[in-house]
Amino acid sequence: MAKVGLREWLAVGRVLASGRLARYGGPGEGPLNRFEAGFSKQFGIKHTLAVSSGTGALICGLAAAGLGPGDEVLVPAYTWIATAAAVLAVGAVPVIVDIDETLTMDPADIVRRITPRTRAILPVHMANMVCDMEAIMRIARTHGLLVIEDACQAVGVSYRGRRTGTIGDVGAFSFNQFKNINIGEGGAVVTDSDRFFARARMYHDVGALFRGHLDNYNEPHFFGVNLKASQIQGAMLNVQLKKLDPMLRRMRRRHGVMTRILSSAQAFRLGPHNDPDNAVGLHVMFETAKEASAFAAQHRRGVYRLYDSSRHVYTNWAPVLEQRAAHPAMNPFTWTKNPVEYAPDMCARSIDILQRTCRISLGENYPVPLMAYLARRMVGGEVSQRRLSYAA
Ligand SMILES: *Cc1c(COP(=O)(O)O)cnc(C)c1O
Repeated sequence: MAKVGLREWLAVGRVLASGRLARYGGPGEGPLNRFEAGFSKQFGIKHTLAVSSGTGALICGLAAAGLGPGDEVLVPAYTWIATAAAVLAVGAVPVIVDIDETLTMDPADIVRRITPRTRAILPVHMANMVCDMEAIMRIARTHGLLVIEDACQAVGVSYRGRRTGTIGDVGAFSFNQFKNINIGEGGAVVTDSDRFFARARMYHDVGALFRGHLDNYNEPHFFGVNLKASQIQGAMLNVQLKKLDPMLRRMRRRHGVMTRILSSAQAFRLGPHNDPDNAVGLHVMFETAKEASAFAAQHRRGVYRLYDSSRHVYTNWAPVLEQRAAHPAMNPFTWTKNPVEYAPDMCARSIDILQRTCRISLGENYPVPLMAYLARRMVGGEVSQRRLSYAA
């Protein structure tokens, strides 16, 4: 979670004073344009479109890529419900795939769940962990599938030298209060495709027809919804973007220090990571669920068992599992040739992993010695008097 402070306050003040709050309508470039250009540059991607939320970014990205009724989209068993709900919002249906010990989609299970109706893979970089993108892109190429990355929980994080969200065909980011860039609520869609970008702009702005900015594209106009961000969001985003890489460096540093200490533990082992050299997420694994629970109860601050943040476990996505839509005739589950069936135990391996795993916060806003002290306490080894007094 990124901090918000005086700089954001001043940036918002300038927007309020300018009187130009809306995305379109003012003269010249506004803060949103500046953010989109800066984000594209920093992330090494051709197009960025700021939108009102991460969920909106996913919906917009899926619509831009042309996904819809009859399509199956593979989503992981461990993610925020928005991932699956976004698939349904464009009329496609989510097919739920097991995670592995990296806490992201298991490539072997992706292959098992592909059917003739599968059109896309939607990997989620959970809790700043990165997916095995090399394997996922290989599977996508082999089976002719699109890849829509949900990088909402890993904004700015790198996978083998590239930013998450910029590797697949389309990427979605969230900037809500709990994410690496925090403006309360917000999001962005990114793509290297001119066509997907034109379609995303149309979809996110029902009035795109009247803006003139789409004149250079050949894509015929279709109607959309309104997922536009405001210039107030744009002003905050410009400030937050500058803080992102320094924050990730702080996380990286603490990750190095803490994993060195934690790797000597007897009671648990470090969870695997798909790109250990760039890791900014940390989890530890136990033999049994009971041990993981006890560890989380003992350490509490900055430690929790993944299964207990149960909103992110597929078994708790009742409206999705029970296939309920706002209107019975607008229910994508009734539009598929082959019914998609869900059962509580369909991803038993994910449940087992989540029950035996604790996530450990890297405390990027706390001093390194304090985090080292906490890690030492988790190992249960000797804690020197000097370090004790520091923490006190
Ligand atoms: C936060 C989040 C979203 C949705 O973002 P909002 O900005 O809250 O709409 C989607 N997917 C994942 C994995 C998330 O963590």
